[in-house]
This record gives sequence, C-alpha cells and structure tokens, in this order.
Amino acid sequence: MKAQAIRFDQTGDASVLRYTDIDIPEPGPGEVRLRHSAVGVNFIDTYHRSGLYAVPLPSGIGQEAAGVIEALGEGVTEFKVGDRAAYAGGPIGSYSSHRNIAAARLVPVPDAVPDEIAAGTLLRGMTAQYLLKRTFKVESGMTVLIHAAAGGVGQIATQWARALGAKVIGTVGSAAKAKLVAPFCDHVIDYTQGNFAEQVRTLTDGKGVPVVYDGVGAATFNGSIDSLALRGMLVSFGNASGPVPPFSPALLSQKGSLFLTRPTLGHYTATREELLATAADYFSVVANGTVKAEVHQRYALADAAKAHRDLEGRNTTGSIILLP
Ligand code: NDP
Repeated sequence: MKAQAIRFDQTGDASVLRYTDIDIPEPGPGEVRLRHSAVGVNFIDTYHRSGLYAVPLPSGIGQEAAGVIEALGEGVTEFKVGDRAAYAGGPIGSYSSHRNIAAARLVPVPDAVPDEIAAGTLLRGMTAQYLLKRTFKVESGMTVLIHAAAGGVGQIATQWARALGAKVIGTVGSAAKAKLVAPFCDHVIDYTQGNFAEQVRTLTDGKGVPVVYDGVGAATFNGSIDSLALRGMLVSFGNASGPVPPFSPALLSQKGSLFLTRPTLGHYTATREELLATAADYFSVVANGTVKAEVHQRYALADAAKAHRDLEGRNTTGSIILLP
C-alpha cells in the first residue's frame, strides 16, 4: 500500500527532511501494520538527522508513535486488528502515516490514555520511569536537580519525582518557562541567569544534591558536577546543548567521590518484560493523574522540519507530535 513518510538522504539541518510517498508491503512474520494516529518528536530524532548519532542513509526518522493495528503478519498472537498500540525507542521510521513493525516492539495503550499522549510522551515517560526508579532511585525526602524542567522529559520527571516524595529543583532557560514549571517544582532556577550550582548549594545548606538528571549535556556538565553532594550521582542522559567533552575520571574524585552514568532507554527496556512493565508503570501514573503529560505542540507530518527547528531552538515546552 501507499503511505506518506519523512525521509532524509544526507545529514544536516532540518531542511534535509523531505515528505514523500512510500510503499509498504504486507507485514512479515511477527510484524503488524500500524496506522499512526499521532507521531512523537523527540530530541534524539535531531541527533539522527544531524549525524551526531550515525544512521545508515538514506533513512526514515522518528522512534515513537501510536495508532491502530490494521493488519497482522504470520504468528502474531498478542494483538488483533483494531487494537490500539504504541511504541517508543525505535526502530527508526515513525514519521510516517503507516508502517510495519515487530509486534514485540509494541505496547498496548490503556483506554484512559489518548493516542496523542501515548504518541507524544511514551518515550519521555519511560525515560523518566527508568531514570527515577532504576538508574538512581529517588526516595522520599531527597532533593533532586532536574535540568530542562519545562521540556518533554523534564515536565514528566519533575512531577513524578515529587510524587515519589522528593523536593525538586528544576532549571529552565527563560522566565516564561519558569512560570510554566513552578507548579511542578519546589524551586525553579533560570540557568541562563548566573551560576545554577551556587544556587543549588544555597538551597541545600551547602551540601549539594544526591543526584542530578542532566539531559542538556555540554552546557551544564560542570555546573551539574558542582551541584552534587559527596558521593552523589550525575545521570547524564542527553546532549540538547551538545555532547559532554572528554574529561579525566580524576575529576569525580576531586569533586567528592562522585558517580557518573550515561544511560539510554533501550538498555532499560531490553526484554519484553522490561518494556511492558516500564510502559505500564508510566501509563498508570498518567491514568491516575499523578503525572499530567501534555502535548503542547502539534504539526502536520509534512511540517516535521518546523518541529525540529522549534525543538532545537528551545521554542517548545512539554511534548510534540506530528499528525499524519
Ligand atoms: P526537551 O523538550 O527537553 O528539549 C530540550 C530542552 O533542552 C530545550 O527545550 C531547552 O530547555 C534545553 N536546552 C538547553 N540548552 C539547549 C540548547 N543549546 N539547545 C537546545 N535545547 C537546549 O527534549 P526531550 O524531552 O526530547 O529530551 C530531553 C533530553 O533527554 C535530550 O537531551 C534527549 O536526548 C534526552 N533523552 C535521553 C534519553 C535516554 O534514554 N538517554 C531518552 C529520552 C530523551 P531550556 O530552554 O529550558 O533550557
């Protein structure tokens, strides 16, 4: 069948993305054909497009969508035609109206979760789940620092960390974003105005925080290290401002016997059981209102380049979807 998709032939800025017709064969063994009702746009998509994370070219793009199953390949028993399902974290190619995908990559979407929320927030929500509950366990009474609190991962992680009983310090890049996330944070710091690590020390009686969740990367790395308490952990999970430059492990000793981890969602959802449990945990906090996951930006699929420009230009808050 004919479908529509965004593809790119060479890496570069958002202008390399082109909207085109594609042919989709019948789903193969173990696959289903999913009609996408909404497609998530994530920062990692910009890394694939720019070449920061290498992908074979020419390539599709995008790792997240939700929709309805239209056809089943041989041997698929876990889903039936008409089921709502979503996926996040790959494989690349979600910026499309339809696609074939292994049923093992799909998770069921509960009735209480609309397609737009599943498509726009499953990847970020599962990320928040593993970061807060498995990479470094947030416990009641802790104070934690979460960068880019107004962003997609940031808004989910701040609300969820608070629900786990933590005090949350969130950083943002503008006064408008500070206002937006004030309800989700105990303290908001605009890190474009002055030294955020000093402010974190002041807020923690000089001690620093036991954990920093840093998806900003190069621009915040040193400040994140300086915000940590003795034996604290820097969870460096993204590069929105560029990758962290190389450094000597001796820095971790000098700054207080610190820990550093660089986790990625795929390694925390590596088995079918982990994927289903991570998605179910995230959907449960959406369904019961603990986390208000919001899609703040909607674009036509054909306008994917504009979505990338807005995301990279720090002009978005919360999550972003494309509508095929
Ligand atoms: P966001 O919605 O958080 O957008 C990124 C935000 O980063 C911007 O809105 C901006 O907020 C902040 N930022 C700071 N400096 C820059 C800069 N120079 N250029 C652009 N943005 C900047 O994106 P996502 O929710 O999609 O992802 C957040 C981070 O998490 C990304 O780094 C992403 O790669 C990472 N990630 C990692 C995963 C993993 O498993 N390792 C999984 C999912 C996401 P402000 O203006 O407030 O500073």
